[in-house]
Amino acid sequence: MIEIVLLGTGSPLPDPHRAGPATLVQVGGTRLLVDTGRGVLMRAAAVGVTAGMIDAVLITHLHSDHITDLNDVITSRWVTSFAPSPLVIIGPPGVREVVDGIVAMLRQDVCYRLDHHADLSWEPPVEVREFIEGVCFTTADATVTAAATDHRPVRPSVGFRIDAGEHAVVVAGDTVPCSGLDALCAGADAIVHTVLRKDLLVEAPIQRLRDVVDYHSSVEEAAQTASRAGASTLVLTHYVPALTSADEPEWRARATAHFDGRIELGDDLHTVRIGSPGRRT
Ligand SMILES: [Zn+2]
Ligand SMILES: [Zn+2]
Repeated sequence: MIEIVLLGTGSPLPDPHRAGPATLVQVGGTRLLVDTGRGVLMRAAAVGVTAGMIDAVLITHLHSDHITDLNDVITSRWVTSFAPSPLVIIGPPGVREVVDGIVAMLRQDVCYRLDHHADLSWEPPVEVREFIEGVCFTTADATVTAAATDHRPVRPSVGFRIDAGEHAVVVAGDTVPCSGLDALCAGADAIVHTVLRKDLLVEAPIQRLRDVVDYHSSVEEAAQTASRAGASTLVLTHYVPALTSADEPEWRARATAHFDGRIELGDDLHTVRIGSPGRRT
């Protein structure tokens, strides 16, 4: 069974009810954190997951809202470990520069804590792997494969497929429909896709909001991607504009028009299980 927890379903705009983009994928004893948006460890704590329990952080792209709290993951893991425990961070080329910058930014904090704690003698250990294509991480429970997506002018961007036994889940990240994503999704059980409502955003009175429609998938486009893949479940997240309970039927209907499988959407911590009946929210 693969468990998907939508830790953060928000957008770049701060929202009192939605954390920034982040998705937890758990399979067996393996915990994979895809993106590290605002408040990620607060939401992870709600499901009993700490920074020290994460096997790998998978970064889809380097837009700020997807990496806002990567520094918190690095720091929290370090200060709560009693032996060096490198944090594996996998992302597209450029992620090493970002992580190097975060570690540099933490320099003073690292010095304070090294000076203060006699039993803490190592700096935050990170193991960065830059990937665009191919198998990028394996555990006894799961194999993670990366593939290029299309979020131009953000380049490169990647999606991740997690295979575990007979089941597979793809976390697409921000992308328009593209052949790379289609290949990654083919035959997967579930597609977790960031979405926006283009029908609403094209009417926005602010050009900067209208700008975002050209490099994201709409609800309809995400549904079409899931349909082409033959997936049984589509999980929508990263709602722009923010999803309200009153709007939920409309979002669902727009997906249903293009995809006849199970459609999951909701608030932070919404949980979807693949490979066993039922779901928990
Ligand atoms: Zn983005
Ligand atoms: Zn985004």
